Amino acid sequence: MGVYLAETFDYIIVGAGSAGCVVANRLSENGKYSVCVLEAGPRDWNPFIHIPAGFMKTLINPKINWMYETTATDWTGNRVIAVPRGKTLGGSSSINGHVYNRGQKMDFDTWAQRGNNGWGYADVLPYFKRCENKIGAGEDNYRGKTGNLIINDLEWRDPLCDAFIRGANSVGIPLNSDYNGAKQEGVSYVQRTTHKRRRVSAARAFLNPARKRSNLEIITNAHVTKIILEKKRAVGVIFKKGSQSSTSLELRANKEVILSGGAINSPQLLQLSGIGPADLLKRYNVEVLHELPGVGQNLRDHYAPRFTARVKNISTINESGRGPRLWGEIAKYLIGAKSIVNLSPTLVYCFWHSNEAVKNHDLQLTFTPASYKEGVQSQLDDRPGFTVAAWQQRPESLGFVNIKSNDPFEAPIIQPNYLEAEEDRKVLISGMKLARRLMRTEPLEPYFDFEQYPGDHIQTDDELLQIARERGTTTFHVMGSCRMGPSSDPTSVVNEKLGVHGIDGLRVIDASIMPTMLSANLNAGAMMIGEKGADMILGKPALEPIITHE
Ligand SMILES: Cc1cc2nc3c(=O)[nH]c(=O)nc-3n(C[C@H](O)[C@H](O)[C@H](O)COP(=O)(O)OP(=O)(O)OC[C@H]3O[C@@H](n4cnc5c(N)ncnc54)[C@H](O)[C@@H]3O)c2cc1C
Repeated sequence: MGVYLAETFDYIIVGAGSAGCVVANRLSENGKYSVCVLEAGPRDWNPFIHIPAGFMKTLINPKINWMYETTATDWTGNRVIAVPRGKTLGGSSSINGHVYNRGQKMDFDTWAQRGNNGWGYADVLPYFKRCENKIGAGEDNYRGKTGNLIINDLEWRDPLCDAFIRGANSVGIPLNSDYNGAKQEGVSYVQRTTHKRRRVSAARAFLNPARKRSNLEIITNAHVTKIILEKKRAVGVIFKKGSQSSTSLELRANKEVILSGGAINSPQLLQLSGIGPADLLKRYNVEVLHELPGVGQNLRDHYAPRFTARVKNISTINESGRGPRLWGEIAKYLIGAKSIVNLSPTLVYCFWHSNEAVKNHDLQLTFTPASYKEGVQSQLDDRPGFTVAAWQQRPESLGFVNIKSNDPFEAPIIQPNYLEAEEDRKVLISGMKLARRLMRTEPLEPYFDFEQYPGDHIQTDDELLQIARERGTTTFHVMGSCRMGPSSDPTSVVNEKLGVHGIDGLRVIDASIMPTMLSANLNAGAMMIGEKGADMILGKPALEPIITHE
């Protein structure tokens, strides 16, 4: 079947996810340029996208989720781990847990120290601020109040959460009223990208306000199968609209192609287009048009075992989330009353360190007054319970995303190599011990019945590691597979302007460019990259750095 030339635009954006939506908005803002966004998934009309607790449903819906899986390793007990990724307008921001968390200062200073000028904390802070509209408290130096993305402090208060927070305080972890402010360390209820009982996805915040602009075209169900290169310049893309068997269509870009497909699909598409490690491409009969060994490498993710407890003397989300009580909760949600349907999967965040010598704290813990059935993420337990999860903030284990054929519709091999680095195992074990300590504090005593999983018989470090192997799962933060770095860094794919090394007219703008892991969930970071990347494309001067003194 031939390829039909459909149209020419100034800018073509592949992927309407967290970063892609921001870029689409900013590039089409001044009306001077024609912009086309191609999104492989459908419009974001599924109601579960918009209802906060709909997270449980979108996690397992292949119509709006790529439903990827990792390759099993010994460190995951030979289990494959689900890697959900959003496949709809808004991308993963349409199926994520809506917690808003930017990371800590040193994360970005590390990016700059790796040779990425303009990506230190002082440089990125104004872009975070431009992006956000923080409702309620928040110091002006750190928080934006006029951006597109509405962020709220969770209003829900719950006696179990309160007891967890007081318990954390009792072991020396202070309350922190804004973990996106001067410092991250401490414990608090979460901040969320929700507003008036609905999710605020990147599509809702950035794409919808731009939708009516005559210079912006949004094409859904459009799976890009190739980036077209002429010599060393990207000049357009080939895509299929609708089904795999449909005719291939071609779009041309006068100025640039912007790849915002996310940490799995961006490297996959580069590889399929002949940009990547030569050996890999040759193995699958992809013509090597530009050898770039880093494409798909340096994948990282957060890996978390979850501890669960049986709870007494109080009711939890487990019981409200089923049967007639669930109907009551739905009714309350519909009339705007307090309801679990308006909740996020995690209610309390805690940032702490694995030992006193760690200055940039390395542990994140979460608390939820609910628990999943054994091993099944998305199914609540029958009896009252709570969950404490712990993970290492900046894992060192490096993995990869590699094509396993030249078929653009075949999922690539995804291998984050969880726990491969010894340091990761060490830090995680200390996080697991802290999680257990936090389950047994005095304020939680009236409610804590017993540890359901893994149970008191698990005590030694080796036993804890075995638990991590058997039950750890992703916290959904794959990144790094098109790493940003100077051309002298052979592991890097894009330069500090996000241009692909050695190729003109092609940038990658999404979580895949993150050089090292943020101490955070990644939605905020991906949108900040979108903001900054769009300014770079438009040739605007960088926003004035904000120097902080924490
Ligand atoms: C289940 C889940 C829970 C999470 N929870 C949180 C949370 O609570 N807080 C938080 O901050 N982060 C969370 N994250 C992580 C965060 O949402 C992501 O890291 C972030 O959205 C990634 O943004 P991105 O722009 O890199 O990619 P995405 O948002 O994934 O966007 C990529 C887009 O490109 C499209 N695309 C890909 N390939 C093609 C192609 N070939 N042709 C056309 N379109 C294509 C995809 O369909 C998708 O829409 C979660 C993620 C998941 C999946």
